[in-house]
Amino acid sequence: MPVKAVCACGASYYLKDEYAGLRLACPRCAAAVEAPRLPPRPAVREQPGDPVFARDKFLLNERHFGVNEKYYVTDPAGRPLLFVERPAYLSLNVLAGLGAVAAGSANLLLSGFVYFFLRHGGVDTFTLGVVSVWGKLGSLLVVFLGLMSFPPKRDATVYRDDTRRETLLRIAQDRRLQLFGASYTVYDGKGAALGRLRKQRLRNILRKRWYCLSAAGEVLFIAREDSMVLSLLRRFLLGFFGLLRTDFLIYGPHWRVLGEFDRRFTLLDRYVLDLGADGLRAMDRRLALAMGVMLDTGENR
Ligand SMILES: [Zn+2]
Repeated sequence: MPVKAVCACGASYYLKDEYAGLRLACPRCAAAVEAPRLPPRPAVREQPGDPVFARDKFLLNERHFGVNEKYYVTDPAGRPLLFVERPAYLSLNVLAGLGAVAAGSANLLLSGFVYFFLRHGGVDTFTLGVVSVWGKLGSLLVVFLGLMSFPPKRDATVYRDDTRRETLLRIAQDRRLQLFGASYTVYDGKGAALGRLRKQRLRNILRKRWYCLSAAGEVLFIAREDSMVLSLLRRFLLGFFGLLRTDFLIYGPHWRVLGEFDRRFTLLDRYVLDLGADGLRAMDRRLALAMGVMLDTGENR
C-alpha cells in the first residue's frame, strides 16, 4: 500500500511503504515534505487458554483402537500436541436397543393376553379397542422411549497427552437423544463454558453445516461442506466407498473464509484443520479444534 505525500507547492507523490513517516526533499521545489505514517497494523488477537492452542494448523490423526475413538492431534511435523478420546459405547447401545425391543415385545404380548381374556370376559368394545390400540401403538411407544432414554452421551475430551492426567477441553453432548440436531457445549479444563457447537439434521441432508456459537449464543463461525455438488455425490453415490473426501470450509461473519478442514489421502485417515486464513486469530482455536473433533469423530459428519 503506497503512501501519498503532498508538498506545500502542490506536488503529490506516491511513495513506497519504507518512506512512511520520513522527511523527504520535494523533487520539484526542494522543500521538506513529511511522508505520512502507515496506519497501525491490526493486532493479532492473543489466544486465550493453554499456549498449545496458539497455532494455525492441527493434524487430527484418527486411530481406531477398538471401540472408542482415540487419537493424537499433532503439528504439521507430526509432533504430538494433544490427545483426544471419545467413547462410542457400541456394546451399550446394542444392549439398549435389544432391551427396548424386548420391552416393546413384552408389552405387545401382555396386551394380547389382556385382550384375549377381556374379550372372553364379555367387556364392552370400547375397552377392547383401547387395549388393542395400546397393544400396537403402545408397544412402539415403549420401544421408542426405551431407545430415547438410554443412549449414553458421547462426550469428547481433549487431554494434554495420552496419560490423560490433564484435561484441556471437554465437549459435552447437551441432550441424550439428538433427534433433530446435535448440540454440544465446549468447556475449558476448569469447566468454564467457551461456546456451543450445533448441527441441524434436516439442514444437513443436502450439505453439512455446523455452527459454533459463543456462550452467549452469538454465531461465531460456521463450518460448511465445500461444494454442493460434491456433497450430493458423497451422499447418494460414492459416499459408501469413502471415495470422495469430505472437506469443510470455515466461515466467519459475512462468509469470510477463516479456515478449512480437509481430509488428506494417506495411509492413516487424517484431517488437517488449517486456520491460516484467519491470520489475526479472530477465531478461538479451542472452539475451532473442538469443531474439528466433532467433524472428525463420527456424527455422520
Ligand atoms: Zn514541493
